[in-house]
Amino acid sequence: MSRYDGRMGDPGSYRDRKSDSFGSGSTGYGRYSGGGTGSFDVGGGRSRPEFENSALSKQDLDGLPPFEKNFYIESPDVSSMTEPEVEDYRRRRQITVEGRDVPKPVKNFRDVGFPDYVMQEIVKAGFVEPTPIQSQGWPMALKGRDLIGIAETGSGKTLAYLLPAIVHINAQPILSPGDGPIVLVLAPTRELAVQIQQEATKFGSSSKIKNTCIYGGVPKGPQVRDLQKGVEIVIATPGRLIDMLESHVTNLRRVTYLVLDEADRMLDMGFEPQIRKIISQIRPDRQTLYWSATWPKEVEQLARQFLYNAYKVVIGSIDLKANHAIRQHVEIVSESQKYNKLVKLLEDIMDGSRILIFMDTKKGCDQITRQLRMDGWPALSIHGDKSQAERDWVLSEFRAGKSPIMTATDVAARGLDVKDVKFVINYDFPGSLEDYVHRIGRTGRAGAKGTAYTFFTAANARFAKELIAILEEAGQKVSPELAAMGRGAPPSASGHGSFRDRGRGFGGRSWN
Ligand code: AMP
Repeated sequence: MSRYDGRMGDPGSYRDRKSDSFGSGSTGYGRYSGGGTGSFDVGGGRSRPEFENSALSKQDLDGLPPFEKNFYIESPDVSSMTEPEVEDYRRRRQITVEGRDVPKPVKNFRDVGFPDYVMQEIVKAGFVEPTPIQSQGWPMALKGRDLIGIAETGSGKTLAYLLPAIVHINAQPILSPGDGPIVLVLAPTRELAVQIQQEATKFGSSSKIKNTCIYGGVPKGPQVRDLQKGVEIVIATPGRLIDMLESHVTNLRRVTYLVLDEADRMLDMGFEPQIRKIISQIRPDRQTLYWSATWPKEVEQLARQFLYNAYKVVIGSIDLKANHAIRQHVEIVSESQKYNKLVKLLEDIMDGSRILIFMDTKKGCDQITRQLRMDGWPALSIHGDKSQAERDWVLSEFRAGKSPIMTATDVAARGLDVKDVKFVINYDFPGSLEDYVHRIGRTGRAGAKGTAYTFFTAANARFAKELIAILEEAGQKVSPELAAMGRGAPPSASGHGSFRDRGRGFGGRSWN
């Protein structure tokens, strides 16, 4: 047995323990009463319960026994790594970290200090070394802190959260009849949930950890039976899990380790209300691990609400990719040309389909909308200065197709779930490429084709290079004018005017 047996020992010795014996390393609610935060200030120093009062159905989360979640002891080999060695290792493996007291990465499986029953599974699987997300993510997760992991599927992220989950489960009191799971993994799709389950089964069996997968589109009976028998790990898509919670088949009172996998995809699929509802049922001093392949503002905002003093680890560079089902057109224009260009474009594309137009400012939103309406276009706007009732009304008019043109700022559009947007127009270029990808992603959903038009001015030149990369990755044409801007050349005066002089609409060659 390894030197870590005292902390992460064999399953029997821990799972037989009673809840009141979990003193060391446990963190009750007191920890969340406004303590300091690290350099990555997720949670903003506020207490987590504050954020979660939006619960749709109240759970009594008071008076739950403390639990243990810090299992990490740094091995001597890891301790002896100097800071330059740590930095060099992270650089070579493309690991970027943020947060307070970030642990050093582990180079070998034995340095993690996993208990023997987990090590046996790793050996059986034939793995040679930890993947980058594992070498940095395991020490972070085993320390019991919240974690944001930006890593793609295929990076080994599933085991990055599942093996610490197994250690966590084995340190908790065993399940009693009627108990829900200890570990909850939320995933966007059935396919991903099933993949996660395969790993959970493979690596959890040696310590007799049971799991089940809860997803929609199949009969509930077998899932209900699994939940009623009691399982330590539930892997679920949000909708079906809520069904199960509402019908009291299970509960989340025992969950102390929560994983959100592919958070970006879950938000894109409109799961945010369900995620909020589920999290409101879980004790706030849980450990939360939040995974995403990309890091748009929406995903970050949710993390800020549900994580506390989190570590963040990014593997590789965050590759920005646009949905390939979207045709992207970018035109170089001057600020003063924008309105006329917009009207020409609308004349060209308007067929009653929904058109979403993004502006930088609330004032701009109001001005352009007023002007459009004066010119006879069925446009309404939403932005942060509008009351919730007004926003709801505008949205319902837009959804119903009564007002097929909607102008919006980024803030107001965040979290908007409107299907069947055929065109997105970036009247103003957004403040980041993440926002660009996110905005245009409002179209081309659920297998539909979409089109995005973007006005790009000299003031946006600093985004040209990255924008070109996004266009090229998605197989879109790049106009010579934009290419020149990408090389640092000033925009040509003739490049955009000529099409207008010829009186052409935007549907023609003026868009790349
Ligand atoms: P994931 O990113 O979690 O979907 O993992 C992708 C695949 O990599 C899965 O089949 C894992 O079993 C496998 N895998 C996970 N960790 C390792 C490792 N350290 N070495 C080799 N393969 C691994």
